[in-house]
Amino acid sequence: MPDTWGQKLAEPLFERLTVIGCGLIGSSLLRVARRNNLARTLVAADISPAICERATELTLADQTTCDLAGAVAGSDLVILCVPVGANESVAESIGPALRIGAIVSDVGSVKGAVMAALSPHMPAGAHLIPAHPVAGTEHSGPDAGFATLFLNRWCILTPPPGADETAIKKLSDFWTAAGSNVEVMTSEHHDLVLAITSHVPHLIAYNIVGTAADLELVTQSEVIKFSAGGFRDFTRIAASDPTMWRDVFLNNKEAVLEILGRFTEDLSALQRMIRWGDGDGLFNLFTRTRNIRRSIIESGQETAAPDFGRHQSDPQ
Ligand code: NAP
Repeated sequence: MPDTWGQKLAEPLFERLTVIGCGLIGSSLLRVARRNNLARTLVAADISPAICERATELTLADQTTCDLAGAVAGSDLVILCVPVGANESVAESIGPALRIGAIVSDVGSVKGAVMAALSPHMPAGAHLIPAHPVAGTEHSGPDAGFATLFLNRWCILTPPPGADETAIKKLSDFWTAAGSNVEVMTSEHHDLVLAITSHVPHLIAYNIVGTAADLELVTQSEVIKFSAGGFRDFTRIAASDPTMWRDVFLNNKEAVLEILGRFTEDLSALQRMIRWGDGDGLFNLFTRTRNIRRSIIESGQETAAPDFGRHQSDPQ
């Protein structure tokens, strides 16, 4: 756990933080920013009046507004927490209102497309440093957020070539103080890594749950009744926000299709092993994959508790 976690910073890192999009990620950021004193003034903005109303009830920020341009005026850090496909229209609205020297970032799960969408709207003197906190749940909206969401999770920064080093360092300090470990890489590399670790696994989950829903020989009630056989874990992933995941696949097309090509080849190889009774081949692959899970547990990114640490009363 980072040394700074749990201690309020004596001096905030930023004077005025504006978070646009008060859903799971945006509201979690506001909560941790308040908890750890990451910015002196917190501003929350969302296009939806209902979300703004809820954010106000939850006192997520010092000011809450549906006026995106007004929300960023005077802010030294602006973080877009909207679905990937909404970044361009938000950037268009806020671009002219950004203050000189402001750091503009986002939390999108795809980086190349977001960088391309935001860059043309950045005024001279604003520093665009895209980021992706690799943390989340299958829930959405302002009530779903919590201050420890980013704790011990990775946050990947993808600054464009030639980005201001001081701005990168300030944003990195911000995420560290929010509890994250920070890594810097290119947007292209990010999109390939996340295609295999996140995007394709989600696609597989959506596909297998969809297949089960369409099966005619097995009833829906049997699928639900016997789900503990492994299916249940896919259903958690397949319950993720439809807007967010539609945008991820439409905006990381190339990398997802490349990894899917590899996946399909490997699936065909598995099919052959089953057809030809190649027990050694299956055993060797399953031994290798078991070791990968062990490494994830050892790195602290997963629990070794039985049944993924679920409590008997926990429906997740
Ligand atoms: P969410 O809970 O659905 O929140 C998104 C919020 O943005 C909603 O309040 C939405 O309002 C608002 N919004 C949509 N379009 C907008 C616009 N044009 N201007 C202003 N606000 C707008 O989604 P989330 O899970 O926080 O995801 C937000 C971003 O985080 C996405 O880019 C996603 O890729 C990234 N991310 C998500 C996860 C995860 O596990 N969920 C993890 C890492 C990164 P409405 O509800 O009214 O549309």
